[in-house]
Amino acid sequence: MIFRNKCKACDYWTVFELKVNDETALKTCTHCQNKEEILWDSSAETLIRDGEKDIRALEGHFPALASLKNRGDHIRF
Ligand SMILES: [Zn+2]
Repeated sequence: MIFRNKCKACDYWTVFELKVNDETALKTCTHCQNKEEILWDSSAETLIRDGEKDIRALEGHFPALASLKNRGDHIRF
């Protein structure tokens, strides 16, 4: 699955790819390819879902966020 968030490694708002393997998940920034393994539990799922909600709320102020759709898309304000 893919989701949008801010990447700590490249400091861009970008599209992440998430691959879930049972108890862990690999989060990859599709812009800088930085990979982060996270513990995959219900709180991680909630974090990602809440992050998407934040982005949807921010789209009102920063319409460019709405253009983050495909792998490799990235923006910085
Ligand atoms: Zn990145």
